[in-house]
Amino acid sequence: MTASDAGAGRPAADGHDALRANLQAELQRDWHGRVLVDPQDMAGFLTDHRRRWTGRTLAVVQPDTAEDVARVVRWCAAHRVAIYPQGGNTGLVGGSVPDDDGRSILLSLTRMQRIRAIDPINNTVTAEAGCVLATLQQAAEQADRLFPLSLASEGSCTLGGNLSTNAGGTQVLRYGNTRELCLGLEVVTADGQVWNGLRGLRKDNTGYDLKDLFIGAEGTLGIITAATMKLYPRPAARMTAMAGVDDPHQALALLELAQRRLSASLTAFELISDYCLELVTRHFPSSQRPFGSRERPEISPYYVLIESSDAVSAEHATGQFEALMEEAFESGLINNAAIAASIAQSRAFWALRENISEAQAHEGQNVKHDISVPISAIGQFVEQTNAALQQRFPDTVMVVFGHMGDGNLHYNVSPAAGRPHDGFLANEPAMNAIVYDAVARFNGSISAEHGLGQIKVDENRHYKSPIELALMRRIKSAFDPDGLFNPGRVLERA
Ligand SMILES: Cc1cc2nc3c(=O)[nH]c(=O)nc-3n(C[C@H](O)[C@H](O)[C@H](O)COP(=O)(O)OP(=O)(O)OC[C@H]3O[C@@H](n4cnc5c(N)ncnc54)[C@H](O)[C@@H]3O)c2cc1C
Repeated sequence: MTASDAGAGRPAADGHDALRANLQAELQRDWHGRVLVDPQDMAGFLTDHRRRWTGRTLAVVQPDTAEDVARVVRWCAAHRVAIYPQGGNTGLVGGSVPDDDGRSILLSLTRMQRIRAIDPINNTVTAEAGCVLATLQQAAEQADRLFPLSLASEGSCTLGGNLSTNAGGTQVLRYGNTRELCLGLEVVTADGQVWNGLRGLRKDNTGYDLKDLFIGAEGTLGIITAATMKLYPRPAARMTAMAGVDDPHQALALLELAQRRLSASLTAFELISDYCLELVTRHFPSSQRPFGSRERPEISPYYVLIESSDAVSAEHATGQFEALMEEAFESGLINNAAIAASIAQSRAFWALRENISEAQAHEGQNVKHDISVPISAIGQFVEQTNAALQQRFPDTVMVVFGHMGDGNLHYNVSPAAGRPHDGFLANEPAMNAIVYDAVARFNGSISAEHGLGQIKVDENRHYKSPIELALMRRIKSAFDPDGLFNPGRVLERA
């Protein structure tokens, strides 16, 4: 077998032929078809989900096992070649595609999909990094358990990507972020060793919590190859409702009431501005606002989507939910409410929330922010930031929605109706400064759940304290001294 037999197709002509041939020779024996070098075969891996960034690479490498990963990492370490790990490529901050210098490999974990074990007594599942989130949810369900992580991208995002971005999603209020769901990791380190930390323990105080460093590191410290995750009992019943409110302050008062009345059953509390619903109903014609008829909708400036997961029974859930809505209505916290009467209606409510980003993309250019502030400050944040943006950029409209129960908003900005989209992005830095300065005033975060990727590295440097940045750089150089894992993501290139 010749060196080129190891990869399929025609290699890219980019001046890295000798290095690429060396990689193919290294992997030639048992990697046939799993080293892609043809530009056409690689294309789908090299552009991010938002189609904002396209990179170049020596090869797309698709390992089957942790030992395969370790072998590739050892080769990269020996040749000083950068490694960009990728899962489902649904990340929104440009973290999963390579830079364009071409001296790198893209390591796609998507073939490592095995669910290695489910322990229903310990309430844990151990799965490989490339396991698609929806598959993991289904496996848990088959074992009569719940794996609660839930995102609109769950049909394609992977466990490794979820862990590396510490993904949030719609049930953080009750179950926490991905970090809170993880008990153990298997990781390939920068020197090409496999660390087996797949412990299913709720208690383990034996020194530094290494797994916590890899979670949310966006592939900059090591390659996650498998994880042991928590499972929960499946709820007896789910209730979903939408309510109309006047502003985020009122939504906050409703959240406080819902937490008092539903306590741990409250699983989701999402805020949606009316402009978001206008976009969704325009671009998804089968969707409908929750109140009134299609012809005469009852409009509120904001809406709240609430979900509860009840451990007792459907009757208990319905009683609690109806009592909450009645109390909220009587005390003037909500203008109207609709409780989903069927699974189909619940899905229709969630579709209004989950289709906002796509509807906004159909409109044209927009500037996105994924921020968090203390929950108590959300009302003031929206009020002050809306006013500041409107004053400086009067031709814009705010697209405000998100996981309000977690203090996390997707606070996006679009051109107002009829205003030009061309050139809108030229104002992105100035808009970011207004939004992130406000976030900093409220002691919030410029990236609540999507990570820093390549898009927010400079801003993070601006807003994080020097001591925090110095500690982060020390961790990076301890774990990845040659700076080969995802260079230029999270921290600037060394
Ligand atoms: C429609 C839509 C809805 C979304 N909703 C949410 C949401 O509600 N909450 C939320 O948090 N995110 C959301 N996201 C963002 C995205 O889906 C998540 O960040 C997800 O966790 C990424 O998983 P992935 O497998 O696609 O990772 P990728 O996009 O492939 O990678 C993400 C990052 O992780 C690194 N990485 C991937 N796999 C590994 C590994 N095995 N080891 C080390 N590093 C690795 C990559 O290098 C990159 O830096 C949404 C995205 C879309 C498109």
